[in-house]
Amino acid sequence: MLSLFRRAAPPAVSAPTLTIGDRVVPVELIANSRASRMTLRADPVRGAVRVTLPPRSSRRTALAFIEAHRGWIAARVADWPEAAPFLPGAVIPFDGGKLHLDWSAANPRGIVRREDRLIIGGEAATLSGRVTRWLRAAALADVEPATRALAARIERRVAKVAVRDPVGRWGSCSSSGTVSYSWRLILAPPAVRFSVVAHEVAHLVHPNHGKDFWALAAELNGGDPATQRGWLRQHGASLHWVGRAT
Ligand SMILES: [Zn+2]
Repeated sequence: MLSLFRRAAPPAVSAPTLTIGDRVVPVELIANSRASRMTLRADPVRGAVRVTLPPRSSRRTALAFIEAHRGWIAARVADWPEAAPFLPGAVIPFDGGKLHLDWSAANPRGIVRREDRLIIGGEAATLSGRVTRWLRAAALADVEPATRALAARIERRVAKVAVRDPVGRWGSCSSSGTVSYSWRLILAPPAVRFSVVAHEVAHLVHPNHGKDFWALAAELNGGDPATQRGWLRQHGASLHWVGRAT
């Protein structure tokens, strides 16, 4: 959750796909000059299979390798979350509960929340993008004051709070004092989201994952965040499928 280094994206060799049941799974063939053998990874967050190729391996060998591991891949893919697109009538996770996407062309244009419903008007075709923007704004309206309040408690300066959509982490904290979060945390229970805020604010003091860091993160969280981390391990991937078409 702390990112000090930015890694360049590895070069993709090509982009075949694999059909598993009714899912079309993108396959990424990644050439890696330091790899000593071919390795396979099924990513439940992005919904892709990645094959890392050592130098001088051919596309044909890679495809044979994938074919030989089709059973293993199918077993992983069977456990992946289902895509939950933002469509009229859909029910999405929100803040520990659920939100019904209550769209009608007759509703006033815009999005208004009424308890567990989002009343949405306007064009159905633009609903997904508008719901995403609404959720991002709701996420920022929650994590920004929480971050600033915790930082004030330990007398640290926060330059900026932002929400983004990273795949590999829930939050990050830069040395310049910018704290960013995944907007998808608004889909998680409040205690889970707060534990990520406590984690990132603790990084304003300790830019590492040492013993003192964990002690401060637990103190800011109001207790050991083990339960919340467990929740993210178990349900985190499914949050990345919310709002996706496939
Ligand atoms: Zn961290």
